[in-house]
Amino acid sequence: MLGKKIKNGNIEDTLNRFLKDDQHLVLGFEKGENGVSLRAFKNYLDHYSLLNPIFSTNGALHLRRLFSKGTKIILMLRPCEIRAYIELIKLNQIEREDIIAVSIDCFGALSSKDKTDDIPAEADQLREYFKKTDTMRWACKVCRERRGVVGDAGIRIDRDGLFWAFSYTEKGDSFLSLIEGEPEESRTEMLMSGSEKQDQFQNDMKTFSKDFAKCTMCMNCRDMCPVCYCIDCVFNGDEYLPKGDALLNKILRSGPVQLPQGKELFHFIRMYHVSQTCVGCGACEEACPQGIPLTKYFKGISERLQGMFSYMSGRSFDESIPYLTFLEDELKNAED
Ligand code: SF4
Ligand code: SF4
Ligand code: SF4
Repeated sequence: MLGKKIKNGNIEDTLNRFLKDDQHLVLGFEKGENGVSLRAFKNYLDHYSLLNPIFSTNGALHLRRLFSKGTKIILMLRPCEIRAYIELIKLNQIEREDIIAVSIDCFGALSSKDKTDDIPAEADQLREYFKKTDTMRWACKVCRERRGVVGDAGIRIDRDGLFWAFSYTEKGDSFLSLIEGEPEESRTEMLMSGSEKQDQFQNDMKTFSKDFAKCTMCMNCRDMCPVCYCIDCVFNGDEYLPKGDALLNKILRSGPVQLPQGKELFHFIRMYHVSQTCVGCGACEEACPQGIPLTKYFKGISERLQGMFSYMSGRSFDESIPYLTFLEDELKNAED
């Protein structure tokens, strides 16, 4: 495949040239005293890091309801973040015109809740780190797409440890044109090959009640999920989650209730809402103060459902979300 080899400092130089325009921004990672974190860069890059070995939130969360034109943005994010961005475009939550989305090969991440101070951010050291320790978060261990193959362009690492930039769309071409040097054929195989790990999830709901018993209904999982985007969530009102007089009336009318109530309904409705767009990033689980293993349910259910429609969330800009498409003959072989 034709791409551009990235030499030392090349990406930083490229992004810095792009950022010289006051109307240009880069959303990417910054290495600071407290580790690597997400940053919106303006004018210049400071302590830029291509990789982020710590997962706290999905960067696409910050792009929802981005409709303004004229400000050009380059996203330099992980594959699960770019996939969420692509789903949000299909849901009309982002105007794509001025955005270039670049996915970067991802070696997995630690949870931000764990001890993160000794984790390296350089590709070779990070690979070694995860080989020696069993600290990678579960969502990353079972990640369906770690390769920088989604979005407009990708940054890939070959077996010799060289970094490459590849274009997948016209916008990707314009990203590559910003990088110095001529395109060349990449003859060495890429380090990461595709994976389809789909059978390790909880999708039969047997342990659901037990796992969710300690849910406090704080709704952090909803708020941090990049594809759970409704502004007027039904759980913000009294209809599904009555409080005060509404709760009193419900108890007097229907009998005693366990509080907080509506846990199952909340998670089932959310599961239904994100089942075709969930990218398995685990941001929901990361946000849960009760340590509930949300990813195994949400990723499990959604990948099973997406599989029925031969769909994969965020794989392509052109594939329509199944629930937005009507086909008379679909699901002929789906029994369950
Ligand atoms: S879920 Fe996949 S893409 Fe996202 S941080 Fe983990 S390994 Fe990387
Ligand atoms: S449900 Fe959880 S795993 Fe799925 S996209 Fe939302 S935050 Fe990520
Ligand atoms: S973040 Fe955890 S405790 Fe809060 S609503 Fe979600 S599952 Fe329940």
